[in-house]
Amino acid sequence: MKDYKLTVGLEIHAELATETKMFCNSKNNTDELKPNTNICPVCLGYPGTLPTINKEAVRSVLRLGLAVGGDIADYSEFDRKNYFYPDIPKGYQISQYKYPLVQGGSIVGVDITRIHLEEDTAKSQHNDKGDSLLDFNRAGVPLVELVTEPVIHDPETASCFAREFQLLLIYLGISKANMEKGEMRVEANVSVTKSDELGTKVEIKNLNSFRSVERAIKFETQRQIDLLKNGKSVQQETRGWDEEREETFAQRSKEGSQDYRYFPDPDLPKLFIKDIAEFKSDTLRKSLPELPQEKRERYKKEFELKDEDIEIYVKDLELGKYFEEFVKIAQNKDIIQLGSNYIITNPSTRNISVSRVVDTMHMVVEGELSSTSAKLILKELEEKDEDPKKIAEEKGLIQISDKKKLEVVAKKVISNNTKAVDEYKKGKMSSLQFLVGQTMKEMKGSGNPKLLQKIFEDLLS
Ligand code: MN
Repeated sequence: MKDYKLTVGLEIHAELATETKMFCNSKNNTDELKPNTNICPVCLGYPGTLPTINKEAVRSVLRLGLAVGGDIADYSEFDRKNYFYPDIPKGYQISQYKYPLVQGGSIVGVDITRIHLEEDTAKSQHNDKGDSLLDFNRAGVPLVELVTEPVIHDPETASCFAREFQLLLIYLGISKANMEKGEMRVEANVSVTKSDELGTKVEIKNLNSFRSVERAIKFETQRQIDLLKNGKSVQQETRGWDEEREETFAQRSKEGSQDYRYFPDPDLPKLFIKDIAEFKSDTLRKSLPELPQEKRERYKKEFELKDEDIEIYVKDLELGKYFEEFVKIAQNKDIIQLGSNYIITNPSTRNISVSRVVDTMHMVVEGELSSTSAKLILKELEEKDEDPKKIAEEKGLIQISDKKKLEVVAKKVISNNTKAVDEYKKGKMSSLQFLVGQTMKEMKGSGNPKLLQKIFEDLLS
């Protein structure tokens, strides 16, 4: 591998979660199970029908553009991308070629070439009888396409980019981006060379999980290295990814963009973005929510949580929301960090009202409750909404933190365990734990062990 250089560029498509389709009023519902339900003459591609632009779809892509730090076009237009396939009966896909909505920007340090808007195709299903069936529910669904520069040199960065892009789409609320459902689809252009120049690129399609993105790139890298090592050349082609066999396979030789005969769609108006009030950058910027990276930085700064904990809240938006509710009531940083540990180790804590969790954490911080008892109480609170103090009292879980009371018992333990006391004085640290243990036993587990340890240290020093 070290003699060869891998270069990857990504193309990611995601279905936008608008009410209606890209160029008609048919419902855009990716969950519709009954085939050919949300259709009309426009998205069926009937001749003589006229498309109209879905403003919300354009707005979604512009907001995405701002979120990745890209440049919003002043002027944009739609083009026809001509090709024949049964899932696109009008003989062309409406896409954007020369004037994409967004250019530039970056995610996880990977430069973005462009982001444009187009329409999804119908879905073909091939059954084992040899029939091909077509479902047009998906035809005309607004599709955002993002293309990166060929600047990725390892499979992990590729999947990291795709993950962060998915998060952005979800944060912006513009796509559900579920890869299993095909709402987000990744393609990787992979080339391996010996020198610094780009080699022949092979496009891998149908990568529908982050794991597949990494594995397919790894497999394809090795396949191309093997070809080059044997003095063969890499063919420019489109390959599929076989999830089960974990290998790429040839699908078709790749057509160049000249084969599509792109030209501006004469049925659609030109977009003078800068003249449309809702599309002004300032207006769009105000509509942006807190983005994943901003959230990470804020959590780090405000709560000083560990990176891996922050990541859990960033990815699980519901849990993040719950944590923030918790924070509002907890206020104090010790309680926040302690509570966060419990929420992260047991995410079903989110079913408990936050004030109950705060009260429980207070008892832990005050030394009234051991960590084990706190877990027990939280488990209980998931079942019923009650005052945690009441539960703790009923179950006899309240720790005694009264120093005077503890000292009385500790002194008794010292006089009954002279051997352990001598050993401790000679430097055997485990004897101290033994003495604490004896005291806990004496108090039927109700002593505060941390405080007891301190008491023994003081008494025996
Ligand atoms: Mn496309």
